[in-house]
Amino acid sequence: MRASDLKTYAKNTWCPGCGNFAIELAARQAFVELMEGGKLRIENLVVLSGIGCHAKMSDYLRVNSFYSLHGRVVAPATGVKLANPELTVVGFAGDGDAYGEGLEHLVFAAKRNVGISMIIHDNGVYGLTTGQFTPTSPPGFPGKSTPRGSPEDPINPIALMLSSGATFVARAFPGNLQHLRSMIREAISHRGFSIVDVLQPCVTFRDTWDFFSKRVYDLQERGHDSSNWEEAMDRAREWDYGGGAERIPIGIFYKAERPTFEERVLGGRRPRGLPMPNLERILKDHI
Ligand code: SF4
Repeated sequence: MRASDLKTYAKNTWCPGCGNFAIELAARQAFVELMEGGKLRIENLVVLSGIGCHAKMSDYLRVNSFYSLHGRVVAPATGVKLANPELTVVGFAGDGDAYGEGLEHLVFAAKRNVGISMIIHDNGVYGLTTGQFTPTSPPGFPGKSTPRGSPEDPINPIALMLSSGATFVARAFPGNLQHLRSMIREAISHRGFSIVDVLQPCVTFRDTWDFFSKRVYDLQERGHDSSNWEEAMDRAREWDYGGGAERIPIGIFYKAERPTFEERVLGGRRPRGLPMPNLERILKDHI
């Protein structure tokens, strides 16, 4: 199978030059590489997306997919994984989706180590609704809802995910397609919760191609020890998602092994194929 075989007939409506193109291409290439390496069966792959420009991934990828509500990608992804742990579950979400509306889902998925991968299209702006500030917009960002500039500091999703117990935390930039593809591949290969924060330029409402191109550097080339949580947190603090930093790390900040949520909840049981439980009896026994 070639990466182009995973495209659909849907007309692409992303703005020319949008960072989403590279994420979509990198994802298709990563899926094919994982299939070729025997680590993924395409019929076992489930992709979920939320609401926003990123969410069209569900339209453009020719795989099993589910369009969720705004900010709710993690919740159905967790349900899919619990219903059938043999599936490979990959959620795509925007920064508004993941770090705004659905933040608590994300924190708890990291805490629980649910065996899903989250790829975040983090452009620091609500592109689909024409340019409001989001949780990762820098202070002073003149969005549609804050014409005099955002009065807030951004959250740092890398530090937040490390604090929440995530067992795989990475960052990537669409300007380095090969690296982005490898981060998606590594995230999907990871056993447990994984997240890749992708610094995705929105050419229409927040064009960051130039800003990030001049600043990103590869953590792994620098010799970063991704098994060291404290070192990961130090690198996470190198840039706080505001302006300022001269150098911005991309790569795997942290990677660890821990029992997954589905292993703990199911203990080896496989819900798929079991008969429907007697709901009346369950309600009577527990309520
Ligand atoms: S509005 Fe921004 S994020 Fe949405 S498609 Fe256009 S460039 Fe991409």
